[in-house]
Formats: sequence, structure tokens, C-alpha cells
Amino acid sequence: MKIQSYELGPIQTNAYVITNEELNRAVVIDPGMNPGKLIQRLQDAGTTVEAILLTHAHFDHMGGVDETRKAFGAPVYIHDLEAEWLTDPRKNGSLRWSEVTAPLVTDEAEYALDEGQMLKLIGLEFRVMHTPGHSPGSVSFLCGEHLFSGDVLFRQSVGRTDLPGGAERDLFDSIRGKLYKLAPQTTVYPGHGPRTSIGYEMQNNPYVPGQPR
Ligand SMILES: [Zn+2]
Ligand SMILES: [Zn+2]
Repeated sequence: MKIQSYELGPIQTNAYVITNEELNRAVVIDPGMNPGKLIQRLQDAGTTVEAILLTHAHFDHMGGVDETRKAFGAPVYIHDLEAEWLTDPRKNGSLRWSEVTAPLVTDEAEYALDEGQMLKLIGLEFRVMHTPGHSPGSVSFLCGEHLFSGDVLFRQSVGRTDLPGGAERDLFDSIRGKLYKLAPQTTVYPGHGPRTSIGYEMQNNPYVPGQPR
């Protein structure tokens, strides 16, 4: 299994491509704005994209969904609580951030995600963890000891909670109650910025109060 990251769009959103090299099949997480180079690289390699997974529906994470979906014919997965955000530029934030984006909408997602779901994709298992707080339908995806955390947990930081549907208490519950229960060696691949690990954040994240030691 190979994990590649692409910084896409005006606010450097991380898109991740997880590839099962034996099968030459991939999953794309959060294809943000201007995903051309990501698409090109996969097409050049003849890779089949089996699914497009979204950690949440803010415009910087979903801006490239339709381009990616059309290029590969892959279905899109999102938590039910943000299914409508894909088709509503007010809800996905693209209307508000008019200085960096035109209003963005995509077609509806094909599948809904929910807490505890196990997705069997590209010969691997992706566990869906509902981790609200940054947004109500934020999810994290756990594949082996790799966690794709969206805008919930960053290296030495956490997602903002002042946007519509955000809630600080939910965010800390998600991080302490779910993410910090994972094995410390779990690698964290956030929606922005560098990789980290659960153990490193438990020791060093300055924003999560009452962290276990
Ligand atoms: Zn976000
Ligand atoms: Zn983001």
C-alpha cells in the first residue's frame, strides 16, 4: 500500500491517494480544488479509482470532487449530516470565501457514511469514525495504522470550531474520546499541514485540554 499526498487549492488542502499497488486500484480522500495533477498522475499509471471519500464538505476539500468523479467514474462517500452541503455553496463555505473561490457545488454523493462503518475498498478496510466538532459531519478514516483526520486533528493544532455547525466541546470529545484511543504509533494524515502521530499529539498538542499522559 502506498500513500501519496497532494496540496491542492488556495488554502493548501491535503488530498490523499491510497493505492494498492498489486491491484493498481486507489482510493482518493478529499480531492480539493484544481485536482488536475492528481488525476493526471493516476491516469498515467492506469490506476482505477474505486472510491472518493470525503472527511467533510468544506469547499477546500470537495472542490475537485466532480472533476475526479468524472475522470474515473468513482462513487463519492460523505457523512449524511453534510450530504446537502455538496450542492449548497452557502453551506460548504464557498460563498463566504469569495476572495479565494467561486461558488462551488457538486452532484450529490452516491453513498452515506456513518460511525463504525467498515468500507472494504481496494482490498483494504477503512473504518469510519464520526468525529464532529470542526463540522457536524466530519469523519476520520482509519486504514490499518493510518488515520486520515480531515480538519479535526492537525500536527500541534486542531480544527477551528467557529464555522457553521462547529462545536468546540464536540471537537475535544472526538479527539480525546475517539482519536486518542487509537494506538500511539498510528500515523495521522491531516487535511492541512504535515503528518503526525497519535502518540506525538497526546504528548505535544497544546489545544486539547485534559489530555492523558
Ligand atoms: Zn474544514
Ligand atoms: Zn480544510
